[in-house]
Amino acid sequence: MAAIAPLPEATVRLLAAGEVIDSPAAVVRELVENSLDAGADRIRVGLWPELWRVQIQDNGFGIEASELAMAAHAHATSKLRTLSDLWQLRTLGFRGEGLHSIAVVAQLEIVSATGASPTALRARYDHTGALQSLEAVAGAPGTVVTASELFDEQPVRRRFLADHKAQARLVAQLLQRYALAHPGHLFELAHDGRKVLQLPPAANLKQRILQILTQYDEHDLREVTLAHQSRSVRLVMGLPDRCSRARADWLQIYVNRRFVRHSELEQAVRTGFERTLRRGRHPLCIVQLELPAEEVDWNRHPAKLEVQLAATPQVAALVIAAIAEGLRHFAPKPSEGLLSAAEDWLPYRTGDQESGLLLRALIQMQRTYIVAEYPGGICLVEQHVAHERVLFEQLETSWELVAVDPPIAIDLSERQAANLREQGLAIEPFGARNWLVRSIPAALVERSDCLEALVELSRQEDSHEMRAALSCRTAIRNGTVLTPAQMQELLERWQRTKNPHTCPHGRPIYMPLTDGELARFFRRRWHICGS
Ligand code: ADP
Ligand code: MG
Repeated sequence: MAAIAPLPEATVRLLAAGEVIDSPAAVVRELVENSLDAGADRIRVGLWPELWRVQIQDNGFGIEASELAMAAHAHATSKLRTLSDLWQLRTLGFRGEGLHSIAVVAQLEIVSATGASPTALRARYDHTGALQSLEAVAGAPGTVVTASELFDEQPVRRRFLADHKAQARLVAQLLQRYALAHPGHLFELAHDGRKVLQLPPAANLKQRILQILTQYDEHDLREVTLAHQSRSVRLVMGLPDRCSRARADWLQIYVNRRFVRHSELEQAVRTGFERTLRRGRHPLCIVQLELPAEEVDWNRHPAKLEVQLAATPQVAALVIAAIAEGLRHFAPKPSEGLLSAAEDWLPYRTGDQESGLLLRALIQMQRTYIVAEYPGGICLVEQHVAHERVLFEQLETSWELVAVDPPIAIDLSERQAANLREQGLAIEPFGARNWLVRSIPAALVERSDCLEALVELSRQEDSHEMRAALSCRTAIRNGTVLTPAQMQELLERWQRTKNPHTCPHGRPIYMPLTDGELARFFRRRWHICGS
């Protein structure tokens, strides 16, 4: 083994810088964050991957002449003064490493003008971050930072980053995240001088998402805001019957306007969508949290991609509650143009749409499906699963037990008896494997299959499963004839449930057919006939 010797200073600098700046995307990250911290709301990024050059232009408050000399020094920042500030962070940057690290691995140039001065200043830095030259130039208020000859002295890094298209994609993805965190700002990306991403200011997060995901429209998404104590969440989610993704690329968590990876919160989103999506599909859900600065530890990851929260379980509960709110209400998608025509002849108006009660029962089909209409289409509702959902949610809120006299004698194992007892049923031994049940769920009273139902319930290991089993057993069977009044009542009760999309086992409850789909179908047919 060789003797231990300290590394040369330049090498130490390069190693440290390499942790912060490992790609063109990392340069963009550091510079865009500086622009946002400088209050900019117009941010334009230029990327020349083959030239190893990145430029960011902003309309922020600029850098004073006296500050330019310090800007690229190691650990020089205007954002953090004392250690205790670390627990009150309001800025994206705070380590004073961004510009320094870029200077170490690239040629760094800053052109900046504050509102106060009539001209701009151009500063150039050497690889130690020291100011090399400073001159007055023409320039509008704001800052343009250029990093060129990136990784000039690190051929190995350049080799790893050889796929320029992939680099550009990463930068675009990164900018989209900042754009989602700041829907009201303008973001642009030019690749080799050609604009590849153009996001003008959007009215809100939902509109921003639609700027990027142009295949969806407003009716596919739902926005929910929810606050508890000093924490709040705003999320925009895709309705599970309309949007889902093959990958989890649109399941994104933001904390205080910064994109983060947080496995517990990502899991909370999945839990919120449990039993609403087909197997293997991922939800579209952008979760933006506003948390008190002192509950967030940013100082855990060089790119601040990971974060530690002081109250993860409470925040997760808030996220799950917000998703539950978003899933509520049956929400068929009205098709424009045809909607107003439909409303003209329907006996109710848009007011009903707000209460979420839209459906009018027309007929029963095959003694199984209720054919219903709503302003904008028709819909088939499977009577059994819809009723099952209604009963299940009733049982979740009130698990009512009633005494039975005489008691019911039943043959159960110890385990089965214990399962029933855990759910509050009064049950006592009555000889070997024989039990006397003295109280049962109210839903089973006067049912001829009460005994079989109790045996089935006793096999369920948790309260959720037991309620699902009881609602399945007691829901109207398919094959049962329903009167128009019964159909209407069922539709109304089902539409008031918390999750009208799926039954407790994840089966879909309704199938809508919108006016638009009908029109498209028949128009297509017409073309075929005409040709
Ligand atoms: P940090 O962002 O952690 O403070 P940086 O090295 O990224 O460290 O930036 C150093 C300082 O330079 C910042 O604290 C800020 O005062 C100033 N600065 C950098 N970029 C800009 C910009 N685009 N507009 C205004 N000031 C900037
Ligand atoms: Mg910074």
